[in-house]
Amino acid sequence: MDSALLNLKSLDDLLVYDNFQESLSFKGTDRTFKSVVVPYRFKDMIPCGIANCRQKHLEGYLVSTSDELLIAIGKDCGRREFGVEFTRDRKRVDGEVAKARRIRTILAFKESLPSMIEELAQIERDYKRLQELRNRLMGAVSLQAYQQIKRRADLGDNQIMKSVPMTKEEAEIVWQTTNRRPNDGKGWPHKEMLLATLEGLAFMKNGFKVTVHTGLLVPLENLQRQTVEEISSMRNKALSNEAKWVGEVPTRIRQSRDLIEAGWRFFTRENIEKLKHMGVDMSALIWLLKDLPK
Ligand SMILES: [Zn+2]
Repeated sequence: MDSALLNLKSLDDLLVYDNFQESLSFKGTDRTFKSVVVPYRFKDMIPCGIANCRQKHLEGYLVSTSDELLIAIGKDCGRREFGVEFTRDRKRVDGEVAKARRIRTILAFKESLPSMIEELAQIERDYKRLQELRNRLMGAVSLQAYQQIKRRADLGDNQIMKSVPMTKEEAEIVWQTTNRRPNDGKGWPHKEMLLATLEGLAFMKNGFKVTVHTGLLVPLENLQRQTVEEISSMRNKALSNEAKWVGEVPTRIRQSRDLIEAGWRFFTRENIEKLKHMGVDMSALIWLLKDLPK
């Protein structure tokens, strides 16, 4: 389908066609509906091209007539004036337009494939290195400590706190402002103190597995090999699935990128050293720490 026809934005875009008429009569003439050319959706209302209608609309169809003229009409007008012949033709054209748009989306997407594939290959390499560090961490700390890290990751609980006794002044405030009293048998008041904030904990989440290779890289490489002819001749169902998938790719790449970034924030010497505040035995981590960036 002609790309100018797919991009109709206003009445001005219709006026460039020599045989376009702003209004035509049908009643009392031998002029009849011929075919639907293309649907459009404008920003500003235009009057219906059927002379005895002229009702304003935003969405409608460019249609041709038996004497080879073109007019713009509303969808309901088409059905009312031209009946089932219009409706059948409208559905055919709607299908063709949807197909042309999907092909265009996929072909436009194809242009950005080389840089995407390059980034994903890098993400995949990074993920393998991070996975290796995660395995080494798992092997070095106790099972209990590792599970505690995973649990914190699942809960998004990145602050390592410690309960410490309040100062005399702080305790006075508690006694004055709550129902606690100095000798109520509940002991000296404590407060939570922040010992450390873990960075990039999202990388340690349960079930947060990257499917970069099979879910993104392989299908994108397949798409890169497909020719314009192959894409244009795809069946409707396949084309619609492909266009939908293509639309999701940027989000999935962003999620993968975020995960890798979290991983590199987690596996720094400074961050892993914070695990001592969770009671992790640091002597077991000496060799891992040596291999981490500061
Ligand atoms: Zn009308």
